[in-house]
Amino acid sequence: MTANNSRTRFLLGEADVPKFWYNINADMPVPPAPVLHPQTMEPVTPDFLSVLFPMELILQEVSTERFIPIPDEVREVYKLYRPTPLLRARRLEKMLDTPAHIYYKHEGVSPAGSHKPNTAIAQAFFNKISGTRALTTETGAGQWGSALALAGSFFDIDVEVYMVKVSYNQKPYRRIMMETYGAKVYASPTDRTQYGRSLLAQDPDNPGSLGIAISEAVEAAASSGGTKKYSLGSVLNHVLTHQSVIGEEALKQMDLADEYPDVVIGCVGGGSNFAGIAYPFLRMNLLEGKKTRLLAVEPTATPSLTKGVYTFDYGDTARMAPIVKMYTLGHAFVPPPIHAGGLRYHGMAPSICALYDAGYIQAIAAPQLATFEAAVQFARAEGIIPAPESAHAIRAAIDEALDAKVKGEKRVILFNLSGHGNFDMAAYQAYFSGSLQDYEYPEDAVKEAMTSLPRVPEMA
Ligand SMILES: *Cc1c(COP(=O)(O)O)cnc(C)c1O
Repeated sequence: MTANNSRTRFLLGEADVPKFWYNINADMPVPPAPVLHPQTMEPVTPDFLSVLFPMELILQEVSTERFIPIPDEVREVYKLYRPTPLLRARRLEKMLDTPAHIYYKHEGVSPAGSHKPNTAIAQAFFNKISGTRALTTETGAGQWGSALALAGSFFDIDVEVYMVKVSYNQKPYRRIMMETYGAKVYASPTDRTQYGRSLLAQDPDNPGSLGIAISEAVEAAASSGGTKKYSLGSVLNHVLTHQSVIGEEALKQMDLADEYPDVVIGCVGGGSNFAGIAYPFLRMNLLEGKKTRLLAVEPTATPSLTKGVYTFDYGDTARMAPIVKMYTLGHAFVPPPIHAGGLRYHGMAPSICALYDAGYIQAIAAPQLATFEAAVQFARAEGIIPAPESAHAIRAAIDEALDAKVKGEKRVILFNLSGHGNFDMAAYQAYFSGSLQDYEYPEDAVKEAMTSLPRVPEMA
């Protein structure tokens, strides 16, 4: 039809690095649930939050402004890797022999290899201008830790990373990457916090979990007398807002391709990369009458949306982080060890939960083996080895393309390739050697976890 019918890459220039972040709070069709203090269970005050976060980020957390200006200092750093490319997966389409058009936004081109620097850079900047001397954080597989370490080095802030002990031992390269950027990395549980020491006293070989590492990082900031702040790589509204650069660019790039997506797909752990690509398209649905389906994909091993309960739960294992209303597997959730991918958080970003509950977005769960099968197919067609997390989105995109083929539809599919998998060879090795298994998180475990929810007073 047009010349675009033969194009593969849809590129924007530096001037197209977005000047605003999109904040879903402005357009939420359903009212948000209050965020509660973990002890008093009263709505949290800015005072409580200011122990952990600088005021600029707290204001973004609760802002109802639709567009939040991106400071020039942040845009300058974004220019190191943004705008990221949008590609049409022509070779994958051919391999699948599908009439569908498959597009993907390649966030794996950032220096840390994922979408996470989009918020890490912003958070480091706002902390820097507020006088924060060090940032504490947790990391599981190491992607968030390396993104924050990178951002810390750009804005000259110390970064202290509590890394889940099993990952610390199994993923030395991610740790060394963080150290290369200048961060300090500790195997959690550590003896640096009260909570860590209490766990080690019970079991010196405690393998750690993301929930435990969050608790340690929160404690380290909260007990620092204000010099250290805590930084979270997903779940919170300001994080989702920072990630909107993905979708804002993708809107322009789909325009360059002369197409508009029928479905937008992202994998979900805490929800930030999915929200990043999907919310700008949701805005078009809500304000411009577009009808794009928004599809979140989670692992069957950590099925917060598809099997969790929509209720108030703690954000972390030690019950120090705020209580939020979300689809949760319970704050004590520890993912099964046979599971290789990330996406291990027990809950999900509150706005995603509210939108899912009200039917504005859809969710499915993908089993591990089918996910790696899709990852390998994608790698062989397109050349990029995807992060195991991103492979969940690829699985769903391939299934959409195959469904379009059965129905003889020309469906336009857009998915977020949230990161590359070059540091995930151990997971691929486990897949090729046959040691990975499918795992369905049991209903009973969810029921059991619901017995230890916070007893929140009846909410309006
Ligand atoms: C951290 C990570 C995710 C999951 O986090 P979200 O907040 O749900 O986006 C997905 N993909 C990659 C590559 C990641 O590093």
